[in-house]
Amino acid sequence: MNLENIRNFCIIAHVDHGKSTLADRMLEVTGTISKEKIKPQMLDTMDIERERGITIKLQPVTMNYEYNSKNTINENLKLKIENSNLEYTLNLIDTPGHVDFSYEVSRSLKAVEGAILLVDATKGIQAQTLANLHLARENNLTIVPVINKVDLENIDVEKVVGEIADLLEINPDEILKVSAKTGEGVEKVLEEIIKKVPSPSGKSEGNFKALIFDSVYDIYRGVVAYVRVFNGELSVGAKIKFLATNKIEEVREVGEFKLKYEPIKILKAGEIGYITTGAKDLSEILVGDTISLDSPDLVSPITGFKKPQPMVFASIYSNGDDANLLRKSLEKLKLNDSSLVFSPENSLSFGYGFRCGFLGLLHLEITKVRLEREYNLDLIVTQPQVYYQKNLTEGKEEYKEPWVNLEIITPKQYLGPIMELAQNKRGVYKDTKFILEKAILFYEIPLSEIIIDFYDKLKSVSSGYASQNYVIIDWRPGDLVKLDIMVAGEKIEEFSRIVPCSHMQGEAQKIALKLKDLIPRQMFEIAIQVATGGKIIARENISAMKKDVTAKLYGGDVTRKNKLLKKQAKGKKRMKTFGRVEIPSDVFIDLLKS
Ligand code: GDP
Ligand code: MG
Repeated sequence: MNLENIRNFCIIAHVDHGKSTLADRMLEVTGTISKEKIKPQMLDTMDIERERGITIKLQPVTMNYEYNSKNTINENLKLKIENSNLEYTLNLIDTPGHVDFSYEVSRSLKAVEGAILLVDATKGIQAQTLANLHLARENNLTIVPVINKVDLENIDVEKVVGEIADLLEINPDEILKVSAKTGEGVEKVLEEIIKKVPSPSGKSEGNFKALIFDSVYDIYRGVVAYVRVFNGELSVGAKIKFLATNKIEEVREVGEFKLKYEPIKILKAGEIGYITTGAKDLSEILVGDTISLDSPDLVSPITGFKKPQPMVFASIYSNGDDANLLRKSLEKLKLNDSSLVFSPENSLSFGYGFRCGFLGLLHLEITKVRLEREYNLDLIVTQPQVYYQKNLTEGKEEYKEPWVNLEIITPKQYLGPIMELAQNKRGVYKDTKFILEKAILFYEIPLSEIIIDFYDKLKSVSSGYASQNYVIIDWRPGDLVKLDIMVAGEKIEEFSRIVPCSHMQGEAQKIALKLKDLIPRQMFEIAIQVATGGKIIARENISAMKKDVTAKLYGGDVTRKNKLLKKQAKGKKRMKTFGRVEIPSDVFIDLLKS
């Protein structure tokens, strides 16, 4: 295909504004798939994506579009079309909106020239709209603003038009209005892309240079590198080099995305497609890496390459005893998910398990669901925590913690309670901006303060209207201390946690009370102590008691009695002994959840 007739673009939006549905309509309009065969959110191929209606894995698709004069919107355009070729190749990348996957989104944006900025007419601009717009602008993309869901009743489309015009500093009539549900206006969007988004630059004669914007493992092909070619061309048999890893491999297949892998002869400058080499391990073919030919050439790596960095971790244990099965399952998952990291861990309370690192909470949740579903495992997952960097300075432990830039968009009237919330969570106020009736708040805040319940609280103080987005900025020394917990004089490592000094006393008290509540009474008194740096700062006692479980059952229902005893025996197995104290496993989970 002539470069002139290629358009590469993404759809960016806040989650649920309709990206995947708009992609469906585009697949239809271009005849890439027939109306009968299409399923909603066609590009969301994983079960869990379809169930939850979220996109986890980005999906590229190549569409051929015949752009004929009956589709033209104005005379101007008609003139242009009559003088040019009508066949266009449209390469769309559907991206996930969630912050956990923002690195992949940033690589996709690097692979294209334009972006549809899609905004839900019922919601207006939200936090991820903005975050993604920043990313698109950093990559100098041409923005095509589109308002979606105009089929819905009782909506104020003009208000949203005003917001977008204000945000982008453009003329309101440049903003398209569509319904991704009914298909209304969708063809106009394709025309606008052809009209506005520049065709890719690059030369097929140049030194081969391509960006890997994603890579996946396929059982038949091994690792498939999803690439955008910037220069040169590539066919089977060529020797290629991966600049970040310095690996050299021979090309086995090149192809394009036609809702499946479709091999082609040559992959050329300007195109989006895939490359396989038979590599079996995702760690050899890294997202963000640059591919060149294996010749001492002058290709410089494309900027912005990063290794995935897990930001939160949690321990995962198998509720059966089969740590081996859990390990095998994690290894299999990792085949397809290079950002998942794990290392074996031996916990006093749960036995063998794994400490796993994730990009964020959604990533953790997806991993858990997949382990449970695809590998039939019954899991115990501890409460996620952020990674802390521990330094020893002058014999004293010091911790650094990750900080983020947090952006919150809200209708103006909720500014007060939201600022109060951010302040209570150690947020450092930076700035406020206004777009018509909405305010954007800028904070710097520790990641640990927002990963657990911040979003829920934000939603509740804003009646559901505020939205947030964050980007990791750096590691900062924090006024942080480690709390150690002792039960009957025995230190229990799994209960320890790192907390900010300012919350230390309250947290210690909370833990002590909670444990008092959770640990069953024993035949002797038990002391629960919370200490930091060897100093006890909170203490509770559990008084002694003798307990006969069957005492409650009056009379002679033997089956019930037996059942209860059996249940108790099973409970016993789950008991862990610390010194003299038996603690049921559930206590650990409950405490770790708090
Ligand atoms: P994404 O998260 O941006 O990919 O959003 P989806 O495409 O998954 O859509 C989110 C929800 O909005 C789904 O329930 C869609 O059916 C619905 N939706 C998308 N576009 C429209 C539209 O134009 N009109 C209406 N009424 N609903 C839509
Ligand atoms: Mg989607």
